[in-house]
Amino acid sequence: MPTVVRCPICKQEVPFDDPNMPFCSDRCRLIDVGNWASEKYVISRPTGGNELEEAASEDPDIETDDGPVQ
Ligand SMILES: [Zn+2]
Repeated sequence: MPTVVRCPICKQEVPFDDPNMPFCSDRCRLIDVGNWASEKYVISRPTGGNELEEAASEDPDIETDDGPVQ
């Protein structure tokens, strides 16, 4: 049983009991809302997220407990 999910925005692991689930933070939630509002996932990246760079391409150490991998 997976205990974490990946934030759809920055791919950071998010605990299942996180109030912001499936987002890692309120910031990412707002980003997602903004994405849907503009109906595209191409937006200017928020500042201060250099780990977003590599997470955006491919994650080599993705955890495959038994959660959905997509
Ligand atoms: Zn996030």
